[in-house]
Amino acid sequence: MSSVRDKVFVLGLDGGSWNLLRPLMDKGYMPNLQEIYEKGVCANLQSTKPPYTGPAWVSSFTGVNPGKHGIFGFTTSRAESTRRSLISSRNIRAAKLWQYLDKGGKTSGFINVPVTYPVESLNGFMIAGFLAPQEANDITYPQDLYQNLIKELGTYIVNVKISGRIMDTENEALEFIDDIQFCIQKRFEALKILWHQYAPDFLMIVFNSLDKIQHKFWKFMDAEDPLYDSPMAKKLRPRLFEVYRQIDQIIEYIVKQLNNDTTLFIISDHGFGPLRKRVFINNWLKQQKLLSVKKHRAYLRKILSVTNLKNLPFSKFGIGVNLANPVDSMIDFPKTLFYSSDVYEQGIYFNAQAEKAQGGHIRYEDEMQKIEAKIKALTDPKNGDCFVDEVRRRETIYSGPYVNQAPDLLLKMKSYGYLLNKSMPTRGNNILREVTGPEGCHRSDGIFAAYGYNIDHQTDLEASIMDVTPTVLYTMDMSLPKDLDGQPLTHIFTSEFQHKTRLRFNQEDTSVQINAKNEIEYSKTEEREIRNRLKELGYLD
Ligand SMILES: [Zn+2]
Repeated sequence: MSSVRDKVFVLGLDGGSWNLLRPLMDKGYMPNLQEIYEKGVCANLQSTKPPYTGPAWVSSFTGVNPGKHGIFGFTTSRAESTRRSLISSRNIRAAKLWQYLDKGGKTSGFINVPVTYPVESLNGFMIAGFLAPQEANDITYPQDLYQNLIKELGTYIVNVKISGRIMDTENEALEFIDDIQFCIQKRFEALKILWHQYAPDFLMIVFNSLDKIQHKFWKFMDAEDPLYDSPMAKKLRPRLFEVYRQIDQIIEYIVKQLNNDTTLFIISDHGFGPLRKRVFINNWLKQQKLLSVKKHRAYLRKILSVTNLKNLPFSKFGIGVNLANPVDSMIDFPKTLFYSSDVYEQGIYFNAQAEKAQGGHIRYEDEMQKIEAKIKALTDPKNGDCFVDEVRRRETIYSGPYVNQAPDLLLKMKSYGYLLNKSMPTRGNNILREVTGPEGCHRSDGIFAAYGYNIDHQTDLEASIMDVTPTVLYTMDMSLPKDLDGQPLTHIFTSEFQHKTRLRFNQEDTSVQINAKNEIEYSKTEEREIRNRLKELGYLD
């Protein structure tokens, strides 16, 4: 009996959110998730701050906060260089779950977990997830796994094409939902093949389709939204809900395979909700004379001098890839004290360059206090309500050696329904703009569920995305590194299991040195493809 190896299966649902899943369970679309909800453990899983896919999934498989793993978004830090490169697995500065499992003599498999490209060797297999270029043929370990999968499945899709698709018409939208379902089906088939073939001690798979349809169609599925009753919503909703039924059928399959030695965790990287208004904070900074824009003519000359005509389609300004971000190129940095971060950072940077340009006379602390007070007083002229819930210094949110790569100030906009955008529109109300389409955006409450022979039924639980790695290590009876930020959720287990499995820490720490030369350079085509995808999801302006 004592020779039983405790195994773990982690099902990741990108963007999975109880506020949508609960009503779907009630409507009968997700009976298998319902069963877990009633018999196992279910809770909210707090995402990273702000709640974004890249940092959150990396926190799930490292067990540490972004200040320790160094991933704050989809690109490298603005604090390091104005040329922000797309991040890859090589930018992660903390040990990863598969490395712990390898060391502990466990076999593992990872399917489509975000930020795992380029894949690393491990005692098992890996298929890279979100941010892997679609056309690359090096997305698997072992490398021939990809070709073998294609042989069996005909095709394999890491990311459903989203950029360049207009989904204003019913047909376009239905075609997109078809593609989403096809992608899920292929991934499910791959799961069945690989689970059977490798039978690893640990297996993790991420489905990112819910995130995509929620970004595009949240308000068609949210009964509290006025758009819920629109003609388009009525036509699309049954088809959208079928995607959730499809996910539930995968849950059914997984549960059936769990013997009395495997624990199932279902997690998401963040929750979801409606997108109400966009906040163009750079325009507000301009009004406050904290940000200065280049004179139009000089700006145009600059663009013309660097534009490579072949690269024109890359951005709406017609600027080639040589300019990392068109908004940054509009800002007159020596005359700018504060400027907006990208969407996925939801913050404001202090500009050390301006301080230098003015002879180091600017007092950081004074300026920070002034801007914090001003931001807290911002109100929506439509209803007079404050639209910033929280203004926090980066040091109060993150800890670790990479804290200074984050924006100096982090803003939580009103109930996460207001979203800070970096762009600087000049027409209409140029600080706040209502979102009238069906879009949704992220929330901090993701989902956590646990189910298995060793799990007690509980509903009262607080959990964080950083708890996933320590909880997995504990479940598999492995010792934990001493400086993880997450906690092992030992109290979700039956008392017999807790008695049998002792919580142990070792003397290792989570940090790893990365070689700067190791950082991947995506090809220009790959970078363009990935950036376009990020733009379509609203992550890049
Ligand atoms: Zn996500």
